[in-house]
Amino acid sequence: MQWGKLNIAGSNKDQKQGDAAINDPATGAPIGYVPAMSAETVRSAIGMAHDSLAGWSATVPQERSRILRRLSQLIAEHAEDLAHLLTAEQGKPLAEARAEIGSAAGYFEFFSEEARRLNGEIIASPRADSRLLVTHKPIGVVGAITPWNFPASMVARKLAPALAAGCTVVLKPAPQTPLSALAMAELGRQAGLPEGALQVVTGDAATIGAVLTGDPRISFLSFTGSTATGRLLYQQCAGTIKKLGLELGGHAPFIVLPDADIEKAATAAAAAKFRNSGQTCVCPNRFFIHEAVYAAFLQRFLVEVDRLVPGDGRDPKSTLAPLIDQAALVKVERHVSDALGKGAKLTRGGRRAPIGGNWYEATVLENVGPTMMVSCEETFGPVAALSSFTDLDQVKASVNASQYGLAGYIWGRDIAMLLKTAESLELGMVGINAIHLGMEMAPIGGVKQSGLGREGGHVGILEYCEPQYLLLGV
Ligand code: ADP
Repeated sequence: MQWGKLNIAGSNKDQKQGDAAINDPATGAPIGYVPAMSAETVRSAIGMAHDSLAGWSATVPQERSRILRRLSQLIAEHAEDLAHLLTAEQGKPLAEARAEIGSAAGYFEFFSEEARRLNGEIIASPRADSRLLVTHKPIGVVGAITPWNFPASMVARKLAPALAAGCTVVLKPAPQTPLSALAMAELGRQAGLPEGALQVVTGDAATIGAVLTGDPRISFLSFTGSTATGRLLYQQCAGTIKKLGLELGGHAPFIVLPDADIEKAATAAAAAKFRNSGQTCVCPNRFFIHEAVYAAFLQRFLVEVDRLVPGDGRDPKSTLAPLIDQAALVKVERHVSDALGKGAKLTRGGRRAPIGGNWYEATVLENVGPTMMVSCEETFGPVAALSSFTDLDQVKASVNASQYGLAGYIWGRDIAMLLKTAESLELGMVGINAIHLGMEMAPIGGVKQSGLGREGGHVGILEYCEPQYLLLGV
């Protein structure tokens, strides 16, 4: 179908038999349809990606770099249409969608440069009659599975390094938000990606997942989503011993020390918590505020919370996105009622927003305890769970007791204290007086059950490579 100046090949404006509807979370109305592909169709997509691997991996890095840079430029040129499409299928306010499209373009630009720096190594030889060389070869055909909360940047974060390394890709976007991925794939074709190098498959997640994980022609599975699905895919990949890249759930702590700049900390806390209505894997789930500054922090935080306006993302006044679907609403309700049942205090929100639809009010809970669901599981909604502390060691122990280890935040002024505390946390990423962790030049990822490997940065391209060691007798 056509969307502004974008041609979204692989989607239909009107429903054909068997097509799945893509619904606008703000209105509930369908905005387009995508085919539910059979396992056979997915296998033939893998076949095409496999057939094109030899050609694409043999292109010189400068050629891949040129195509990816062109793709970055095309995304920037179509940014407004892509942002509107993203808001229509995902719900987030346009300002957030525009930022996400900028980030997607940034990934293609960064990895277009990294493609040219995939240098190998010559190891100092222990023998006069030999030389030891190491090169980085593309790992092969990549299966990529992405979530709905960032339908453009999560896709770019996988495609850009994979294609830059010389891999070909079969991508399964989230069923709620496949249109941004299809639109970017079409721009990829326009940029010069060869036929077959990038295949987007749509349809039933479990069916496609079983094919991607079971097919020996796929060498690497890169997945972003829930820990439960990641665990299942990990098991499914065992049969063919695939390499996996997993970016899974998080349960980010937000720690405010007594010497923190409270104004800045509280403003950043609200921005990080309520972006995309709390539907991000790095958004703070638990707030630990030192008792000495708790009252001041709460007062400032509530000012930010009270400013949030739930509404259609296309309305510039809207700052609080709808949740992706009714199931997400029900999960948030469960977390809030569990917390209230276990003694938390409701300070703001705590119910569906009066505008109806998929909106939940920005919610603040106080006196949150460790056994509440909000303290153990990802809420993925606009719920801030606050507690005060006096003993930082207890906070660290509580953070490190979690099965998750993705991201966290700490605010204060004593640099040595901040650094030592951040180092002691079992987390892949820590924002120190900062919240915007996701940058294309930085290694994004978690430890423990938050995942395997890193996306972004120089290590990001190496994830899609296998080193080959060549011993040359001379
Ligand atoms: P969420 O519950 O937030 O949607 P998921 O982990 O289920 O998180 O979804 C992330 C991605 O994983 C989506 O693209 C989804 O379709 C996909 N997915 C879910 N279940 C499976 C599965 N059994 N096999 C392959 N992919 C799956």
